[in-house]
Amino acid sequence: MNCTCVFLLIFALLSGRANAEPDSVLLENNSSAKQDVVAASGVRCDKSPFLVAIDTGHSPAKPGATSARGKKEYIYNKEFVLALVEALTDRGVASYRINAREQELGLRQRRKVAIAQKAQVFISIHHDSVQEHYLKPWEFEGQRRQYCDSFRGFSVFVSGTSAQYQASIALAEKISTQLRLRGDRPTLHHAEPIKGENRQLIDSDAGIYRWDGLGVLKGSAIPAVLLEVGVIVNREEELNLQDPQVRRQKAAAIADGIVAFCSEQ
Ligand SMILES: [Zn+2]
Repeated sequence: MNCTCVFLLIFALLSGRANAEPDSVLLENNSSAKQDVVAASGVRCDKSPFLVAIDTGHSPAKPGATSARGKKEYIYNKEFVLALVEALTDRGVASYRINAREQELGLRQRRKVAIAQKAQVFISIHHDSVQEHYLKPWEFEGQRRQYCDSFRGFSVFVSGTSAQYQASIALAEKISTQLRLRGDRPTLHHAEPIKGENRQLIDSDAGIYRWDGLGVLKGSAIPAVLLEVGVIVNREEELNLQDPQVRRQKAAAIADGIVAFCSEQ
């Protein structure tokens, strides 16, 4: 390819359009259409259009943590995102899966795609692990695996670098409230003052942490949270997280939280 083509390709990659445009066909709903957005509780949001950008944490090549039974975090993230899209669609909320084509996307690129799609909120879905020294060996289906049953529950992260920091906290609170209403509890292990953790817990009841170093949230122009749905190295919690019914319930709670946030904007 000649110089002009190389320049255009680099420009397209830097500006986010190379990945943003082809995926626009994957919009789950027509975000410009009139939406009737209603949570299961009856809470309404008439802000239209309201588009949720959903990031599936990690990628097939870099799949994140490994569960107690050897399943990769990325697979959990992907399954959960599909349940979340469904729950949002049920409530009349349009969503856009940033990495629906399973391409390798940098963290900055993920944020840029959300903005290019004119999303109102950004949520990155992850499943949690613990620091190495907490992991113990066990055997599952003839394979040596590692687990830690000491911690369980969800965590919500926000970044103080975001222009929408306070709104990000409000979004995190709404999501956490709905998860707790259905009986979920946060894990506080990321606040432990040890290497690799020591995150600033800004609301211990809600499990909300501030972590300015999180690349996917850095400098976000829209309200943005990263959600650790649960701890997949915990053997009991992993079984729970594998259950499609449980996944649907958690996704429904998060979708209700997003509608509640929308209704107060
Ligand atoms: Zn992750």
